[in-house]
Parts: sequence; structure tokens; C-alpha cells
Amino acid sequence: MSAFKPVRGMRDFLPEEAKIMRYIESQARKTAKLYGYKEIITPVVEPYELVTAKVGEEVRLRMYAFEDLSGRKVALRPEFTASVARLMATTLRNEPKPLRLFCVGSLYRYDEPQKGRFREFWQSNFELMGSDKPEADAEILLLTNYLMKSIGLKNYKFKVGHVGVLRGILSQEGLAEDTQNQAMQRMDKKLYEEAIKIVREAGASEKGIQTLQKLVNLRGEDAAKVLEDLMKAVGDYAEAVEAVKNLGEILSIVAGASEGLNITVDAGFARGLEYYTGMIFEVYVPELDIALAGGGRYNRLVELFGGEPTPAVGVAHGIDRMMLALQEQKAEVNLREAPLVMIIPVNERLYTEALRIAEILRTKNIPVEFEVMGRKVSKALEDADRRGVDHVIIVGEKELREKAVVLRDMRKKEQAIVKISELPATLKLQVS
Ligand code: AMP
Repeated sequence: MSAFKPVRGMRDFLPEEAKIMRYIESQARKTAKLYGYKEIITPVVEPYELVTAKVGEEVRLRMYAFEDLSGRKVALRPEFTASVARLMATTLRNEPKPLRLFCVGSLYRYDEPQKGRFREFWQSNFELMGSDKPEADAEILLLTNYLMKSIGLKNYKFKVGHVGVLRGILSQEGLAEDTQNQAMQRMDKKLYEEAIKIVREAGASEKGIQTLQKLVNLRGEDAAKVLEDLMKAVGDYAEAVEAVKNLGEILSIVAGASEGLNITVDAGFARGLEYYTGMIFEVYVPELDIALAGGGRYNRLVELFGGEPTPAVGVAHGIDRMMLALQEQKAEVNLREAPLVMIIPVNERLYTEALRIAEILRTKNIPVEFEVMGRKVSKALEDADRRGVDHVIIVGEKELREKAVVLRDMRKKEQAIVKISELPATLKLQVS
């Protein structure tokens, strides 16, 4: 049999990468705590109908979908929002609002594997349910900023838009939701010509098309200026005007609360997922041309799943891509790990006693590795040195008679006899 490899699009995370992934995850958990989001854990396998309902064609065509042994049509989740909305429509429907929910885990999409695009990837996901206020949208932007900053990312930028602007124009032009979705999907892929063609063929007026053409070229870092131009461009489209006002409110709250946030307002910005109804955004770094995170407002999804009308706004942070961005930026991920202690019994008769000492230290939160290769002390010390062990405890008969061991500092190359009862405190002192 030839050697096995992971399935295409799937990866192993070896210790160095697993450490960074878990570090980002731990920062996401910290963010959840600081902003008041409670963790929920939802299944990887969901009903096919649920996860395909509103994700948009792009994701729908890339689903890991299959029938289970009872003939149920199921899918591996391609995102978290549908699962959270399902809960909001059922078990959590009577919970007092607002409800802030956090999840983290793996997602599955049959995307074409390339740099930063995998078939199994990881997200931390935040959903704020029950508020239609711009403060709620601002909170999602601010917590995303907090997370990006806290992992040590530099030069990241927000790209922000509002689905209501494009939808407002397309609705007033009489386009059915389906046609709107098709046009928006093309916009998401920056296929503006194709989008305009769809809109034209669906019977939009010349004015409508000209307005859209203006929007796709309207973007910039001076939010006030872009919003002003945008307002002029959409003047006759009432819903679009409301959307521009809403975006202006959100951005002014964000600017007031956090200085130095780098935001590009992009009037022609659309996102692949169909459920968005309001502000949408993505996060980028100059080193990668794919988004690190994406989110926005979706006010109708919970209702679509049979729940109460529930305004909602959320974000998904791509953990794999955040790691990639940190690697590209050669960021020092400051993972202060407790120094390693290794314990070496001088001979087999002392194994039990050495293990007992190791257990005592572990109960005091001191990480200890046991020498399991049966090596002689000199060889075991060489191995400890090679692996960057900080302290070695040598358990020998002579010292044991005095209820003591030899404690060797591998960096200073010094050693001393230390009472076993004083070992935890001595190591703690040296470790901290
Ligand atoms: P979405 O759920 O499409 O809004 O994506 C949110 C974030 O998830 C993106 O900004 C990416 O960081 C991440 N993401 C989406 N698809 C993939 C993928 N195939 N591989 C890695 N990360 C992904």
C-alpha cells in the first residue's frame, strides 16, 4: 500500500502551526469574554436544507453534502451563521435580547485549494442578535479590530459597504430577489460588466444602470467624502438613501470609539452570502489578496428559519488566514510557554520514585517530561539539551536517601541538590 497523505484541501497542523492556531483561538475567546459573547457549540453535520437556504450559489455549489445511513440529506457546515440562526428560531427564541453568541470550530467548503484557501478551515464567529441599532454593527467592527490587533497583526484594513444601497436600487428598479442575488454575486467577484448586463437584461432603467456604474467606481479612505458622493449618486432611490445614512451612522460611531482604524468605504462592495441586509465588511492585509474576516448585518435570516423577526449582525474571522497573515508579516507570536522540566531517573529501580516526583510537580502546574527511553544520564542530558529543556531533575539513590534530587539548570550549566519538598517552590521561582 502506498503511503497515505491527507485528502486534497485538508491539512495536518504540526506543533508549531497548531500552537499559532490555538493562540489565535485563545485570543478570540478572550475577545468574546471582553465583549460579553457566550460560547455555544453546534454540530459539524447539519440538515442540507438549513445550510443551503441562504448561503448563496458560490457556497451552495461547494458543499460537502451526502445522505446519512437513514437517507437524510445532510452537509458538513460551510459556515456558522445558519446554525446560530437555527438556534435563535427554536431553542433560544424566547431568550431576552440582545443575545451575544460566540462559536469557534472547523468549516468545510469544496473550494479550489490555493494559498489561504482550504477545504477544511477554522473560524471564530460572533453574532449579536436582537438589535437593529448602528451601535450593534459598530460593536462587531470594533471587536474584530480588537482581535486583529491583539494577535499582533499590522497594517490591516477594513473594507466596508452596505448591501442596502445596491438592493435599494435594484428593488426600486423592479428586479426580483433572485435576479438581485445573481447581480450581487457577480459584483462580489468584481465582475461588474456581467452584473450590469444582468441588471440591464432584467429591464432596469438607463438611470438605474448609470447609478450602478457610478457606485462600482466609488470607493476611498475618506469616509465622509465617499458617503457624500454616494448620497448624491443614489439621490432618487429612497431605500438606498436610508442605507447610506445607516452606514454613515455606523462609521461615525466606530470613528468616535476607536482612533486610527483604517477603513475603505466601497460603494460597489457585495458579499457572496445572500442573507446580508445591511452593513457588510471584510478585513485585509497588504500581504494577502484574500479576506481575513468577513461579516455584516442579516435581519431576516432568523425569521426565514421560522423564528421571530430578529435583527442580527455578525462576523466570521478566518483563523487559518490570520495565521498566514502573521507568518507573511513575520510577526513574533509572543507565546510565553512555561519552560520545560525533564526528570531523569539514574536507574530503573528509581522509576517509581521519579514518577511520583513528576506527579507532585504537575499538581503544582509545573510541566514535566519523563525520560521514557531508558537512556543513561549523560545521553538523556544530551537529548534534553537538544530539545531546549530548561531544567533537569536527576533522581539518584544517594540524594534520595536525603529526600533530595539534583536540579540542573541547563542554560547556566549549574546544578544543586534540592530537597523534594522544596522542589516546586524552587522551580516556580526559576520559572517565573
Ligand atoms: P465567509 O463565511 O465566506 O464570509 O468567510 C469568512 C472568513 O472565513 C473569510 O474572510 C476567510 O478568512 C475564511 N474563509 C472562508 N473560506 C475559506 C477557505 N476556503 N479557506 C480558508 N479560510 C476561509
